[in-house]
Amino acid sequence: MSENCNNQCSTCGQDCGERKEAQSFLVETNDYSHVGKVIAVVSGKGGVGKSLVTSLLAAQMKKQGKTVGIMDADITGPSIPRAFGIKDKVFGTEQGALPCISDGGVKIMSLNLLMEDEEDPVVWRGPVIAGAVKQFWTDTLWGDLDYLFVDMPPGTGDVPLTVFQSLPLAGIVIVTSPQELVSMIVAKAVRMARMMNIPIIGLVENMSYLACPDCGKEIAVFGESKIAKVAEDFGIETFARIPIDPQMAKACDEGEIEKTKAPFLDSVIERLKEA
Ligand code: ADP
Repeated sequence: MSENCNNQCSTCGQDCGERKEAQSFLVETNDYSHVGKVIAVVSGKGGVGKSLVTSLLAAQMKKQGKTVGIMDADITGPSIPRAFGIKDKVFGTEQGALPCISDGGVKIMSLNLLMEDEEDPVVWRGPVIAGAVKQFWTDTLWGDLDYLFVDMPPGTGDVPLTVFQSLPLAGIVIVTSPQELVSMIVAKAVRMARMMNIPIIGLVENMSYLACPDCGKEIAVFGESKIAKVAEDFGIETFARIPIDPQMAKACDEGEIEKTKAPFLDSVIERLKEA
């Protein structure tokens, strides 16, 4: 035991034999932010609709009267500002950065909102990206939020690890495509969350089917849905399916995601309220 031991194992980095609990890497936010539940939205690969799900969850929660923010941690592929039609830039003050606010009242922080030209690529190494994400947490003046959704980069790399360790997550929502459900990609996300003791709120199968525009019949483009079985196998109680919907793609592209009616995520929303 160190001679300076104060018995606070969770904040101590010493590797001593007397350790009673694991070291905590949690990082405090600032005095101007009071964030209720922090929910990370994760996926195994890019392009499966993680940002769409983040946007729909945030917009729906806001419509239900909650105060909501989105932290866009998908630094190299940020798509949240576009989905919400945000054209402003983040405003800096001595206390920290003020997030942009969407028409519907969702507070948004994204690297795109700090860049002079949003088409400039972010050519940064992993630790620098992870540092920027941490700063979004420590330096953004979120105010009072019931929910902060974190749109994570895909996979299990540096940034997801940083977010999992540094932010006080109430849970994660895993987004997959039908193809990912039959591979080991979902298993990796589930195991990472369990290794880090983070509750899994729900599993979302995006692009699950196509609704026939004439008769409404479900067309199983990628075969019959496996989500119920996969959720059961992993002991995840809440799952949801989102169809392929050209209107939704259009709403994302045109910044109108808040006007989209998408009842598909109701079960996840209800579960989030209990988290
Ligand atoms: P990710 O965040 O996983 O990289 P996005 O949410 O950015 O994926 O989605 C990738 C693209 O696919 C976007 O252009 C989005 O509008 C579109 N998209 C996602 N889900 C659907 C869907 N269910 N129906 C139609 N288009 C979709």
